[in-house]
Amino acid sequence: MAGKLPLVIVGASYAGTRLAATARDLGYDAPIILLGEESHRPYQRPPLSKGLLAGSVAPDELALWGEGFYANHAIDLRSGVRATGIDPRAREVRLDDGSSLRYATLALTTGARCRTLAMAGAGLDGVFGLRSLDDALRLRAALADATRVCVIGGGFIGLEVAASARRRGLAVEVVESAPRLLARAVSPRLSSYLERAHRLRGVEVRLGRQVRALRADAGRVVAAELDDGGSIACDVVVVGVGALPNVELAEQAGIATRNGIVVDGFGRTSAPGVLAAGDVASLAHVDGAGDASPPLRLESIHAANEGARAAASGLCGQMRAFGGVPWFWSDQYELKLQMAGLTRAGDTAVLRGDPEADRFSEFHLRDGRVVAAHSVNRPGEHMLARRWIEAGARIDARMLADTSVDLKGWQPTP
Ligand SMILES: Cc1cc2nc3c(=O)[nH]c(=O)nc-3n(C[C@H](O)[C@H](O)[C@H](O)COP(=O)(O)OP(=O)(O)OC[C@H]3O[C@@H](n4cnc5c(N)ncnc54)[C@H](O)[C@@H]3O)c2cc1C
Repeated sequence: MAGKLPLVIVGASYAGTRLAATARDLGYDAPIILLGEESHRPYQRPPLSKGLLAGSVAPDELALWGEGFYANHAIDLRSGVRATGIDPRAREVRLDDGSSLRYATLALTTGARCRTLAMAGAGLDGVFGLRSLDDALRLRAALADATRVCVIGGGFIGLEVAASARRRGLAVEVVESAPRLLARAVSPRLSSYLERAHRLRGVEVRLGRQVRALRADAGRVVAAELDDGGSIACDVVVVGVGALPNVELAEQAGIATRNGIVVDGFGRTSAPGVLAAGDVASLAHVDGAGDASPPLRLESIHAANEGARAAASGLCGQMRAFGGVPWFWSDQYELKLQMAGLTRAGDTAVLRGDPEADRFSEFHLRDGRVVAAHSVNRPGEHMLARRWIEAGARIDARMLADTSVDLKGWQPTP
């Protein structure tokens, strides 16, 4: 290893650690330097809006990897170090302490950050975004003293925060500007199911409404003012209105971006020697029938791990492109929502099971093939659907809807 220029990875989370470890597993024998601007060692993000906020998970349970991981993989993890600029021609990364590092290959796994709202009161005490462990610890401390929470945004993070705050016994209102919850991610049926699930558990849901401004008393938020003239009294506001990819390093270096750093199936960017993976990367996904989606940022653990694995394979000359079925989960109360595949307008949705009983799946078919499935408390069907989507399997919609048919023993036609 001595004397060789390193692989430098900027961003130490799912994609960064996975890329480093996979490269080592595939025999990469130059030094690997993993830079992370956060002071914590890499940790799990999903529990931040779930168990950590609800109180069932402690911060010291969140480590992404065990004690010996970095040493065993000869990964030089440098926490609390921010990359401030890159020069792909000189193959150099500038750091926030004024020093710089030369690299053989650079990987940008810088993830995403919370989108913010430009409105009066956005910077008040009591107003939170949720992306990092530090964000979550601040929010958790505020919830301990709060009574009323206003969540702006009815997406996954907003709804998980709402569920966690209800679990803590707080009054919660969710304000969503679209006419339904999770409008970009799920079908109208699933949106109404989740709306009802939250209402049944005591959450006030306001759809088609926007928060125009936040009002303060002595510098602390006390109310959210709505576009219909109404207002919501609250002592904590959580803004969950999506994430923006951290593309600035790439943009400043002239690397192609379009809602994310544009990459191919091996994480290669437009600049030689620069890879990208995870929430920051945008790529086309190919389904089991060979159909490619437009370039997308999937913002999921699966996509971060898979993109990093594919990038490492290309780096090590083993060329195993990004593949597999995209999947995602969300825990709200005792409801486990699991999603596999990608839907498109025009797909046929088939319901199996009973939403009223909080156990059902919605399968999405395109030209008779299963392309996606969204399940609530049906882990077995989620796993089956992943296999079918991967295989581009054809399945009869009536059979799918019939709960007397045991899907496990049934072989769909390819
Ligand atoms: C609250 C929450 C709940 C979630 N729940 C789920 C879930 O249930 N299921 C699921 O599949 N996904 C979930 N996600 C999404 C998932 O966490 C992300 O898809 C995943 O973290 C992406 O990993 P990443 O490595 O690409 O980026 P990130 O995890 O965002 O990490 C990027 C890292 O790079 C660092 N960085 C950025 N710029 C620099 C720089 N210039 N120098 C040094 N370091 C830098 C950042 O500080 C950060 O630590 C959740 C996300 C959040 C925030």
